[in-house]
Amino acid sequence: MTDAPAMAAEMTAVSAEHHDPQQPDDERWMREALALAQQGAAAGEVPVGALVLQQGRVVGRGFNQPVDTHDPTAHAEVLALRDAARTLGNYRLPGCTLVVTLEPCAMCAGAIQHARIARLVFGARDPKTGACGSVIDLFGEYRLNHHARVTGGVLAAECGQQLSSFFADRRRASRAPAVAPAGLPVGHDDPR
Ligand SMILES: [Zn+2]
Repeated sequence: MTDAPAMAAEMTAVSAEHHDPQQPDDERWMREALALAQQGAAAGEVPVGALVLQQGRVVGRGFNQPVDTHDPTAHAEVLALRDAARTLGNYRLPGCTLVVTLEPCAMCAGAIQHARIARLVFGARDPKTGACGSVIDLFGEYRLNHHARVTGGVLAAECGQQLSSFFADRRRASRAPAVAPAGLPVGHDDPR
């Protein structure tokens, strides 16, 4: 009964449907998110920055800081959502856009959906924990309640470079051996 090729074609179509092309201001806001991420790097946190926009105005900001806050949920997106919700006095953020330098993980994708964010813009893809198409696509899962429009890859090279530089500096600082222990490839970093 199952028509696998037809199902696959349908899933591809559904998956692509919620992805939007880049908009003129996306790079400008991504540069602000990169600056936020840099604040995290300066504090020794993996640099990921996020902001929430409402009608072209920043209403929430955050950068990754789980280490400093002893909080595994303190990802940039979660902190930016909390900041925006406080600013607007509303636990839901309909019509808002969230801009983040790295593809959100499953936790953050869930938080973005709970907040009713209308549009998500992210920079670099995360092949290890990305939940917007790289590992799984939670925004293409139509059994879930809410669906943001998604634009990925905005200033992806800059966003990826910021992360690479951070890990390279950290490896140098810890004088890590040039050859990783057996079974662990060099550069095998958890992005968070
Ligand atoms: Zn996350």
